[in-house]
Amino acid sequence: MNARPSLLALLAATVAVPALAEEVNVYSLRQPELVQPLFDRFTEETGIAVNVAFVEKGMVERLVSEGDRSPADLVMTVDIARLAQVVEAGVTQPVDSEVLTANIPAEFRDPGKQWFGLTTRARIVYASKERVADGEVTTYEGLADPKWKGRICTRPGTHDYNLGLAAAMIGHHGADYTRTWLEGLKANLAKKPEGNDRGQVKSIWAGECDISLGNTYYMGEMLSDPEQVEWANSVRIVFPTFEGAGTHMNVSGVALTKAAPNKDAALKLMEFLSSDEAQKIYAETNHEFPVKPGVARSALVESWGAFTPDTLNLMDVAKHRPEALKLMEEVNFDG
Ligand code: FE
Repeated sequence: MNARPSLLALLAATVAVPALAEEVNVYSLRQPELVQPLFDRFTEETGIAVNVAFVEKGMVERLVSEGDRSPADLVMTVDIARLAQVVEAGVTQPVDSEVLTANIPAEFRDPGKQWFGLTTRARIVYASKERVADGEVTTYEGLADPKWKGRICTRPGTHDYNLGLAAAMIGHHGADYTRTWLEGLKANLAKKPEGNDRGQVKSIWAGECDISLGNTYYMGEMLSDPEQVEWANSVRIVFPTFEGAGTHMNVSGVALTKAAPNKDAALKLMEFLSSDEAQKIYAETNHEFPVKPGVARSALVESWGAFTPDTLNLMDVAKHRPEALKLMEEVNFDG
């Protein structure tokens, strides 16, 4: 064997290696099955590998402690408050991209260009088809009405999704009103808040409660799961509104880290995630609402009907989150 590589091999190496070595490292709080189809498609198209670390807890702490040495290029997470926390920790950098600003409406991205929303979801009511009449659920405020006593299920109040809803309630009505609302809602619970959004629908199916709070896309997930399809079929989606306003919305999104060792490739991935193609995958596979105007919702999501999204600014929702958490603890919502 010749110990030295041939000139041809060297040439091939100089040409091929940089392209193949391109990669992006993502810290994701999103479930693997939700983001993998998007990354696979991106790699197919660009040859850029995507390495994902699923960071369920302590994302901000990890990025802060890794500092400049962090291998992460992108952070992908759900919830406006979590996006805001990552930005506040000083571990992200602004992104100037005409593609991103063209694809993502202004209300779904940070004015400071630190985070970009990729999908939206509504926090809605799952209502028993058997025990709740059409038109019975109208507003979030109305969920505190004693007529629902012993009939409501929800995951813990201290979960981000419910903190977002309570923060939006503060944005609309102030903290005092929201405290009273939470007390009323707690008084109506059929059981102690436990489990996830799908677990509450299972409880409705089992006859333990009549309505629950949940995010829209879980309907799609339940319908695709042979064990959960019965739960899904026992309920329908109702889009409550805040009085005189719309249905509570939240986002999933992405931010570029300050350390970003593969910045160019990371930017390509961010732009890809906002493209028609990726937005369609989000719609069809994840049952979320695309942020890019003109990308259709899936037929299933469309079948849930039209609704009016709340126009309260997402940054306001993030701003009121600490107060929402304080109120949840004050009323001992999960106790
Ligand atoms: Fe979720």
